[in-house]
Amino acid sequence: MSELPSGAVIGILGGGQLGRMLAVAAARLGFRCHIYEPGANPPAGDVAHALTTAAYDDQDALRAFAAAVDVITYEFENVPTAALDLLDSLKPIRPNRRALATAQDRLLEKDFLTSLGIACAPYAAVVNASELDGAIAAIGTPAILKTTRLGYDGKGQMRLMSPADAPAAKAALRQDSVLEGFVEFSHEVSVIAARGLDGSVACFDPGENVHRDGILHTTTVPARLTASQRTDAVLMAARILTALDYVGVMGLELFVTPQGLIANEIAPRVHNSGHWTQNGCMVDQFEQHIRAITGWPLGDGSRYADVVMENLIGDDILRVPKIAREAGAALHLYGKGAPRPGRKMGHVNRVKQGK
Ligand code: AMP
Repeated sequence: MSELPSGAVIGILGGGQLGRMLAVAAARLGFRCHIYEPGANPPAGDVAHALTTAAYDDQDALRAFAAAVDVITYEFENVPTAALDLLDSLKPIRPNRRALATAQDRLLEKDFLTSLGIACAPYAAVVNASELDGAIAAIGTPAILKTTRLGYDGKGQMRLMSPADAPAAKAALRQDSVLEGFVEFSHEVSVIAARGLDGSVACFDPGENVHRDGILHTTTVPARLTASQRTDAVLMAARILTALDYVGVMGLELFVTPQGLIANEIAPRVHNSGHWTQNGCMVDQFEQHIRAITGWPLGDGSRYADVVMENLIGDDILRVPKIAREAGAALHLYGKGAPRPGRKMGHVNRVKQGK
């Protein structure tokens, strides 16, 4: 398929804040978005051309959605496989199924990264509780036990400080997991990278991430990286995108250690740590994703300002009236209802001016 014209319809699976910001970016280029989301009143629904409220196992709704759109993308990685199988037979899904399948499963993801020569924390599969002792013997402690699937923002993770923690971890084990050696990192960074339909690759400047209670708190650009670490980070992202024949934007989270960069995980979508691009670049991650999946040329994502992105989580939203008065602060609010602890309500990009 060649490039989609302005006016074409982009189908987005998932109606959260990422879908909302994708739909806004798509609208700037004249595209219309159709959101598919099982939950009521999704944030993306407010800014979309059409909204389907249906479950992911509703085959009639999925067929009608596919018939109404020109290309399909997603804003979260846990889209059920059966829904994707059906949609894939009807319209192009970008990024492709292999990219999604790889990022959905921590074990597959780590095997894939290792096969590309990209360093990961030492890891071992723990399919059932009886395998944990062997995994601890192989990996050592401290270590982190992570569920293979459906983990995000630190959910589904358990720290084992010593082998004495094994019985409690076994008792809590509910699904396939991976035991990962603890990485002594100095800080965390991420690269947001895009690959176009023509195979061209563009990366945003890496950002430095600080988490609080397992959730991203701030991203700062530029990140503290040496020139060679910066190059390494970008080359890793490019290698992953090309190996997966990826089309769209991907987030790659990395640990910075004295021995070099260690990959933590891949997000096959636009990423919270790329929100700074909205006010630090001519073309942000959302527009870059839309350009990629519609076959447009990738845009200019070079950074023209220093930015600190702060997530507004839960009651942080109460600070909005004050932030709205700040010089150099750009607010992005998601139109969600009541704040709850841990709920991402919006973010603010603070731009250092005068660069
Ligand atoms: P994840 O859900 O895998 O992104 O992990 C959430 C956070 O837990 C990361 O951003 C790190 O701060 C921390 N973390 C995850 N894996 C490791 C590891 N192997 N070693 C040290 N810290 C980790």
